[in-house]
Amino acid sequence: MSEETIFSKIIRQEIPTPLLYQDELVTAFRDVAPRVNSHILIVPNKHIATINDVTSDDEITLGRMITVAKKLAKEEGIDEKGYRLIINCNHDGGQEVYHIHMHLLGGQPLGAMLSI
Ligand code: AMP
Repeated sequence: MSEETIFSKIIRQEIPTPLLYQDELVTAFRDVAPRVNSHILIVPNKHIATINDVTSDDEITLGRMITVAKKLAKEEGIDEKGYRLIINCNHDGGQEVYHIHMHLLGGQPLGAMLSI
């Protein structure tokens, strides 16, 4: 699964989605269907389909995703109360868009980690 997804078009602003953050490695924008009060996606600019496809070359990018999540959590005012970061992988992980992305979720109590 190496085809680009809608996220590449958002990163290139071919689909004009408001960006919360962008640098040479990652882009962040609000989830179109927020599950909680604050739901942001942090996405590598490079198309990587799943976590199974990352390599050691991507380690700086993956680290940047975390530091950007931290920055955005502070800007959202959810850093002190807390939040959750999730990356889904493949079918059983619930992945829908095959361009890896980190969900930053917060703004309310999130309850148990999983409900299966
Ligand atoms: P996942 O299930 O981890 O692949 O999550 C994909 C997420 O992308 C879902 O939460 C969708 O609501 C979100 N999403 C899909 N299309 C868009 C879009 N055009 N803009 C923002 N978020 C999107």
